[in-house]
Amino acid sequence: MPQTYTHNFDTPTYKGSVTFNTGLFIDGKWTDPVQGGDLIDILMYRLYTATGKVIVSIAGGTSKDVDVAVAAAERAYRTTWGLKVPGSERGRLLAKLADLIEQHADELAALEALNVGMPLLVNKYFVVPGTVSTFRYFAGWSDKIHGKTIEPSENKLAYTRHEPFGVCGAITPWNFPLGVVAAKLAPALATGNTVVLKPSEITPLTALFLADLIKEAGFPPGVVSIVNGYGHTVGDAISRHPSVMKITFTGSTLTGRKILKASADSNLKKVTLELGGKSPTIIFDDADFEQAIKWASMGVFFAAAGQTCTAGSRIYVQEGIYDRFLQAFAKVAESLAGATGNPFEAGVQHGPQISSTQLERVMGYINSGKAEGARVHSGGERIGNTGYFIKPTIFTEVTADMKIMQEEIFGPVCSIVKFKTEEEVTKWANNTTYGLAANVLTQNVSLAVRMAHNLEAGSIFVNSSQSPERQVPFGGFKQSGMGREMGQYGLDTYTQVKAVHINIGLQI
Ligand code: NAD
Repeated sequence: MPQTYTHNFDTPTYKGSVTFNTGLFIDGKWTDPVQGGDLIDILMYRLYTATGKVIVSIAGGTSKDVDVAVAAAERAYRTTWGLKVPGSERGRLLAKLADLIEQHADELAALEALNVGMPLLVNKYFVVPGTVSTFRYFAGWSDKIHGKTIEPSENKLAYTRHEPFGVCGAITPWNFPLGVVAAKLAPALATGNTVVLKPSEITPLTALFLADLIKEAGFPPGVVSIVNGYGHTVGDAISRHPSVMKITFTGSTLTGRKILKASADSNLKKVTLELGGKSPTIIFDDADFEQAIKWASMGVFFAAAGQTCTAGSRIYVQEGIYDRFLQAFAKVAESLAGATGNPFEAGVQHGPQISSTQLERVMGYINSGKAEGARVHSGGERIGNTGYFIKPTIFTEVTADMKIMQEEIFGPVCSIVKFKTEEEVTKWANNTTYGLAANVLTQNVSLAVRMAHNLEAGSIFVNSSQSPERQVPFGGFKQSGMGREMGQYGLDTYTQVKAVHINIGLQI
């Protein structure tokens, strides 16, 4: 029998209890895996200690559970959802879900802090309100999904319909788990698709909490099912399933390739990929200096201790302000090191790495930087021997071919490089296989616009960083992804266009 679990929080910043189910949410009900399945331990030790304490074990499914969830999603699509339901009704349910999330905001913020280790206040003031806004934004689109009328001649009228695909598979990563789940569910449901979601096996807790709110909001059974599990089992089964018509994926470039291949080998499902990055932050001499420090540090260290897809991990600073910048930026990094710790403690701004694997991976990059001859200007080591805390780390004296300059580190590590000219920094910034985001800091409007046009990235932030908006498309150039999320561009990736031709002239 699927179990509920209650976590009692008695922390300096949150006291209360949060209850969620640990089973699979399929066809509107909590269930056990059909056969066997995996028990997935969600660990707390990343937050405080190295004792490996398990907070809760959740059920992980297999391909058999994916079959059941997809069958339920197909049934719901054909009977109680899809174009059977007017857009206004889909929007009403999405808006109701947004209201319920808002009502449970404090619980969700605490659970997300436990889930992923980001400071509670970031979840309270940024992640949960952002999730509410995402559902509200796409609720508003639900009854505004229209095609066009096209009249090729007096004899013919044609029109287009933007139809849903049917069953969508959604596969999400461990970082920003709630926000990424919302970014997929909201547009998929607004456009009339049904969804089989596999949240990350590392951070599934808020998705499980959300399942009960989805039910309470009144979505018919099968419209959203949540199959927890590992990537190589549940994720792979969703990616290959012949009745899943679209996959929306956020995660690493490596997994993105596997999903694309699984789609090619099965039914050529449409695939949207939001993948990794190696984003540059470019600071010109004329930038507002204090703002430049703020945006550069937000760009790489903000919220998730570097575990952000758009992390500005390559910082290029023009020669006139380089020395001053380095000194001031190192001070920020050092003060953040002092504010690193348990996400439930007041004043903590920088949490842990998500897992021992991730800790080792990031430390591996730091060691590789040192071995390749880069200089650690600040940080470069763990904080203590317990928990997974790493000091915000700044490398200088790097070269473009070093691993730390080429690969996504996904930790609180950046390199600072001095540049002279616009031409050389543009070339250096574009020297990567990724193209997710780029940040440009200057007060010269013409320069900012030229840079924005010449940088190879899906999002350019001028005089800011890490500032995506739900009304604006987000996604990657090059190996950072395929397709877009958010805004109307994101919405459009959940529909397929049908053209209807009507001969009104009765002529051959
Ligand atoms: P990951 O690729 O390891 O896992 C992502 C999801 O894919 C998980 O749910 C996992 O179980 C599943 N998965 C793994 N193998 C699979 C397979 N063979 N078939 C199907 N599914 C499979 O990524 P992660 O470590 O969870 O997340 C970090 C990565 O996500 C980073 O590279 C980061 O840049 C990227 N990311 C990108 C964005 C974006 O919007 N571009 C946002 C957040 C994170």
